[in-house]
Amino acid sequence: RNLKMHFGQSGGFFRQKTGVVKAVDGVDLTVADGETVGLVGESGCGKSTLGRAILRVYEPTSGEIRYRRRGAGDWIDLARASPKTMTDLRNDIRMIFQDPFTSLNARQTVLEAIGQPLFARGVARSEVRDRVAMIMGKVGLRPEFMPRYPHAFSGGERQRIVIARALVVEPHLVVADEAVSALDVSVRAQTLNLLQDLQDDFNLTYLFISHDLSVVKHVSDHVAVMYVGRIVEFAPSAEIFARPLHPYTASLIAAIPVSSPNLRGRPRAELTGEIPDPSKPPPGCQFHPRCAFATEACRKDVPPLRPMAGGRQVACHHAEELELAGIPA
Ligand code: SF4
Ligand code: MG
Repeated sequence: RNLKMHFGQSGGFFRQKTGVVKAVDGVDLTVADGETVGLVGESGCGKSTLGRAILRVYEPTSGEIRYRRRGAGDWIDLARASPKTMTDLRNDIRMIFQDPFTSLNARQTVLEAIGQPLFARGVARSEVRDRVAMIMGKVGLRPEFMPRYPHAFSGGERQRIVIARALVVEPHLVVADEAVSALDVSVRAQTLNLLQDLQDDFNLTYLFISHDLSVVKHVSDHVAVMYVGRIVEFAPSAEIFARPLHPYTASLIAAIPVSSPNLRGRPRAELTGEIPDPSKPPPGCQFHPRCAFATEACRKDVPPLRPMAGGRQVACHHAEELELAGIPA
């Protein structure tokens, strides 16, 4: 609720303060129990900072991160939770990162890597082995591989190890940050299917962060689009792809490679220009320098994120007037 993560920035020869980067600037976002929310946008728009805020990798500047444990009544504000509370929640909320090559320690066996959160909790070695064997089976790795080291595995297998390590403690919420982006296309599809199967098996809730809309399209119940620290559109997944309401969303959709021949050659809303310097964002709508529909009002007034029909939200002054192209389901 109204989450802000502002960072002081210094630079130049004398390291003088050059400004404040508003990496997350007043975000309201809801992730319901058991669903997948895809969080998309170009790199540098604040997605990862937002994801990491939930695990308190960074201290929030202001706002709330309301979290409710499954089966437990009270809301906890993670933005202000004590270190003890965050430790207690360590197994409730887990993160999966992008690169399976750097997120595994080359000197740890698969048993040690996957079992790490259990060993850290003092679980007996025999029980760790049983639980690691169970989760390896679930992610499609043979339990006989437990004594092996990461170098013996392919990128896709390593990412399965990383996923197993996140899930071995039976979390409730998984923040997946570019979890399949480093994988090649066929392995990526398998891994996405695996993550969906695991969601059903373990009743997981996902915040699925990706710069790649084609990835979130297949896994998300809702999609949130982020631009320069703010959510600019939020909608059920099928609707946002069929009929985007924000010009930035439409540009991201237009950039998805199209496989269907009858869609090739459709007009494309090219995304030109770059994401602005986050310490000097443009006034008004931050997307206006790149928007084909920008008007005088867009250059002056910040469009608030406002509710639209069908449980949708958009931050664009002209959302009602624009007829933006989407792609059929
Ligand atoms: Fe474009 Fe204006 Fe909408 Fe911003 S508010 S996305 S500049 S039309
Ligand atoms: Mg799902």
